[in-house]
Amino acid sequence: MRKPRIVVLGAGYGGLMTVTRLQKQLGTNEAEVILINKNDYHYETTWLHEASAGTLHHDRVRYDVKDVVNTSKVNFLQATVDDIKVEEKKVLTSEGEVEFDYLVVALGAESETFGIQGLHEHAFMIANVNSARQIREHIELQFATYKNEEVPKDERLTIVVGGAGFTGIEFLGELGNRVPELCKEYDIDRSKVRIVCVEAAPMILPGFDPELVKYARATLEKKGVEFHIGTPLKEAKAGSVLIAKGEDEVEEIKAGTIVWAAGVRGNRVIEKAGIENMRARVKINKDLRAPGHDNIFIVGDCSLMINEETERPYPPTAQIAMQQGEVCARNIAALLHGKNDLEEFTPDIKGTVCSLGENDAIGVVYGKKLTGTKASFMKKVVDNRALYMVGGPSLVFKKGKFKFF
Ligand code: FAD
Ligand code: NAD
Repeated sequence: MRKPRIVVLGAGYGGLMTVTRLQKQLGTNEAEVILINKNDYHYETTWLHEASAGTLHHDRVRYDVKDVVNTSKVNFLQATVDDIKVEEKKVLTSEGEVEFDYLVVALGAESETFGIQGLHEHAFMIANVNSARQIREHIELQFATYKNEEVPKDERLTIVVGGAGFTGIEFLGELGNRVPELCKEYDIDRSKVRIVCVEAAPMILPGFDPELVKYARATLEKKGVEFHIGTPLKEAKAGSVLIAKGEDEVEEIKAGTIVWAAGVRGNRVIEKAGIENMRARVKINKDLRAPGHDNIFIVGDCSLMINEETERPYPPTAQIAMQQGEVCARNIAALLHGKNDLEEFTPDIKGTVCSLGENDAIGVVYGKKLTGTKASFMKKVVDNRALYMVGGPSLVFKKGKFKFF
């Protein structure tokens, strides 16, 4: 008899947690597990702001999938997933069709542009290793080109960041460290460089603790970041952005680099597959299955769960994706063992830490507010813990962050 086949799409936080737990919980003869991912490596999405600014080399944020996957138990297929045929129980990939009995969709998020004109053409997005490398190199090229122009264009040295959520703020923190290094390297006066953040909401990090937000803003302003608050970005053009100031007024900011970091949606494959979704995210059942699809689990940023206390969706985070991966693996193992009473997932939010560049951060951990080096230390502990959860101590030694102060 053919073994049941479990296909996991995506080797990010959710996908790798599912697979590494399945390989522990299932015997080789119990099921066939196939992991499909676009690249032969996993990248730490939560470190991409560092690779984008150039404060951390992109090879530091990735590792080979085969370093953590037991290939005697899991078949790895490097391929791009194009579509899911839910009724036919098939995944269509760049390398051909793959049939499944159980499917785990863990394809992560894509940038949300809200239909704003010009963003796809003129803005960079912090999305993966390739885009991070492109942002870093583009910024560096602006500095190098500036010094070679007969009439140097100061606006070339302006970097506009759209969005002051956690991604935008963490990227600004890194830029605050990187820009002085670039100025030194290219003999450019720091005062020529502008780092501008455009945020639609009336505050940065909307909804986060006001005292910590105040600390973050002051820290970043000290590093030379200019904030335009309550001013939605309306359009991106070649070399500039338009931002709304009040009802009728529009201001143009000329910039050599535009980075869009103003929110995410799920993966387009979800929409293509026709699974019921909201902005490519599936409002999953408590057991992590897609409603009406008893053999399809959705974890990570492609899933949507409502926090019953606040009646708002939980934010898409690595913390939740990893916890879901663990429960997803247990639930699939339970189904294979003939149990239909599946575990219900409840996020266990331990806290949130937002870095502000090297050795500085803000955060709330187990209800306690932290700032400065203490928060930054905690952020590195969290980063190392994620490595440990997937690859154990050897992965922490290989890829971990140990420069604490
Ligand atoms: P991911 O980890 O993004 O993995 C998705 C995987 O699917 C990738 O390997 C990708 O290559 C693959 N893939 C995508 N499309 C295809 C396809 N069509 N075919 C094949 N493979 C595909 N969260 C926190 O909890 N704490 C933080 O500190 C934090 N910091 C962040 C910092 C930044 C800069 C960003 C951008 C996000 C941060 N987040 C943080 C959010 C967190 O990164 C995400 O919630 C998390 O990555 C979601 O995990 P996932 O498994 O759903 O997707
Ligand atoms: P977000 O939705 O958290 O923030 C997006 C920001 O962009 C908001 O402040 C929003 O007001 C602003 N915005 C929206 N439209 C705009 C416009 N037209 N012009 C200007 N600003 C606009 O998105 P994110 O920061 O990309 O984060 C995505 C997810 O990843 C979130 O769930 C976040 O919690 C998580 N994340 C967590 C961390 C961390 O824990 N350290 C770091 C990064 C990301």
